Amino acid sequence: MGEFELIRRYFSDCGARRADIAVGVGDDCALLRPDSARLLAVSIDTLVAGVHFFPEVAPDALGHKALAVNLSDLAAMGAEPAWFTLALTLPASDPDWLAAFADGLCGLARRFGIRLVGGDTTRGPLAVTLQVHGWVAQDRVLPRQGARPEDWVCVTGNLGDAALALRLKRLGESVPEILQQRLDRPWPRVAEGLALGGLAHAAIDLSDGLAADLGHVLAASGVGARLRLVDLPRSPKVQATGDWALALAGGDDYELCLTLAPERFEEARTRLAALGCPLTAIGQIEVTPGLRLEGPEGQPITLVNSGYDHFG
Ligand code: ADP
Ligand code: MG
Repeated sequence: MGEFELIRRYFSDCGARRADIAVGVGDDCALLRPDSARLLAVSIDTLVAGVHFFPEVAPDALGHKALAVNLSDLAAMGAEPAWFTLALTLPASDPDWLAAFADGLCGLARRFGIRLVGGDTTRGPLAVTLQVHGWVAQDRVLPRQGARPEDWVCVTGNLGDAALALRLKRLGESVPEILQQRLDRPWPRVAEGLALGGLAHAAIDLSDGLAADLGHVLAASGVGARLRLVDLPRSPKVQATGDWALALAGGDDYELCLTLAPERFEEARTRLAALGCPLTAIGQIEVTPGLRLEGPEGQPITLVNSGYDHFG
């Protein structure tokens, strides 16, 4: 199968049908109809075999995750997904692999109303680069720099499941299915990000670990925070390890971390509960820069390794 047959077969009808696409996959450029009332949100992420995923990963899980991590960035900005492009580098054109990859990718795309409008296909070591585009009204943007002293720091869902799956796999131990799913098939908090627009002051999605990612919000906002470790939402399996680092410094959660005025917490919690998503308050923003961690008895805790850094 040649390059063009491959593109036609697997990528020419991928994701939701949308009225705002004049020309999609197949021409020199995609032609799109912009929305003049909202801001265009753009984000790109690359997944490289051996760095971001095991080379033998199931192709449908890879297709899912490549889009999910990008949708998670739109979610963290409060944006609604619209279009995406895909740069795919493949060692070979294997029809079974491509069919499964496209299944995972395009299935998730349909669920989130986003459509593949173009891309590039080359031969080389397996890597997937995906760029997403979405829309957000100016007054519903969730920026990193909006955290204010006294805000509560909150997170959606549970933290540490994906990191525990990765740890077990690296140790050669069996990985419970529920944890494997959290690592392979994160479900981006797009609906939650949209529901938090105009309510949260700041937000970020958790890809590198809570301490590192919240650190970006604190630095951008020129504030600090105090977190209560006992309040970190953790699944029974993560709790059973007794290891705080999984929830604090483990990556790949793709939950949202946000700050909001304490008096708006109940409203936010109710809105997310309607979407089936738990929201937990885990600490508070303070004037003094830096991240302070409080142990079970209120004692200060020091974190040695705060998260993933490609060049760290
Ligand atoms: P060009 O040589 O002009 O860059 P290509 O041969 O790379 O064009 O691509 C032909 C068409 O197929 C373009 O519309 C491009 O956007 C699309 N395309 C190529 N690879 C992919 C892909 N992996 N996913 C979606 N569309 C793709
Ligand atoms: Mg090209």
